[in-house]
Amino acid sequence: MRLLVLFLICLTSAMAKTSSQSISNLSSPPKVLVTIKPIHSLVAAVMEGVGTPELLIEANSSAHTHQLKPTEAIKLNAAQVIIWVGPIYETAIQKSIDAVRKSVQLITVSDLQGIHLLPARSFRHPVDGCAADLWQCHLGHHHHDGDHHHEISGKDGHLWLAAPNAKVIVKGIAAQLSQLDQRNAPHYLANSKKIIKKIDELHADITQEMKTVKGSKYLTYHDFTQYFDMAYGTECVGAVRVNPEVEPTAADLQDVRREVSHGAKAIFSEPQFDTKTIRTIADDTNVIYAQLDGLGFGLEAGPNLYFEMMRRFASDMKKALQSEECGR
Ligand SMILES: [Zn+2]
Repeated sequence: MRLLVLFLICLTSAMAKTSSQSISNLSSPPKVLVTIKPIHSLVAAVMEGVGTPELLIEANSSAHTHQLKPTEAIKLNAAQVIIWVGPIYETAIQKSIDAVRKSVQLITVSDLQGIHLLPARSFRHPVDGCAADLWQCHLGHHHHDGDHHHEISGKDGHLWLAAPNAKVIVKGIAAQLSQLDQRNAPHYLANSKKIIKKIDELHADITQEMKTVKGSKYLTYHDFTQYFDMAYGTECVGAVRVNPEVEPTAADLQDVRREVSHGAKAIFSEPQFDTKTIRTIADDTNVIYAQLDGLGFGLEAGPNLYFEMMRRFASDMKKALQSEECGR
């Protein structure tokens, strides 16, 4: 009798586990919702030929501070699978995600096995001796940026801006979707193999392209290029905004002027920020001012966006860094 009870308990818990982990008895692929364009692109590529994921944040806005619109809230509630970077990135919508967490399958990219996460860096408290190997060196450091979202997790959320992480994302998403939608698992796997080959080509091309500007220094409006620097050897030496959620202070602007004098060749703005201040600094200090986009603004959402965005990012950065105008 005792054995039978034990057996029944095991059986019930096994069944509960299956039903919460698989929605594969659906006749169509799951309704997948992805928060931001670059990740959406990788998911769209994994799902190509099976289904099309929805994009949550289409607007030209920063996901650090993005407030959900009613139409976006509806999408959130209609989804069966939600894929986001995680609380280290989409800080402002974390509560909305938490509210639906129980009724959806949530895939957190920053938790995927094999993802390389870098600690949030702080330029106001410089870390010495990191030039040789940013990737390794940053792993051991902690930063103190005051009360901003990075402080909570200590991690930098812009993890897709290095091709090696994109590969991990593709593998992880394909594996998880295959579990949830077993009928289409062979498609997800075949697609992921194709995309990984494409990412390898992308990585090799960008590595080649950035060779001549390796070690070049620059500044950004908010710090989002650490993963790119790590992968391709460029070097961000300062950010105007210490905290992506708060406007820069007069003291920040003083610091930036000093950082420019330490050999920065360019100062990069982004399409989602109002950057009058950054233009003024660039004019005052006589460095190149250019736009850099890591979110795919102006590009059509879909499987090719990630590749177009990364190539544009690399070429825009290279153009500014190899420019002669700054007088070195
Ligand atoms: Zn950001």
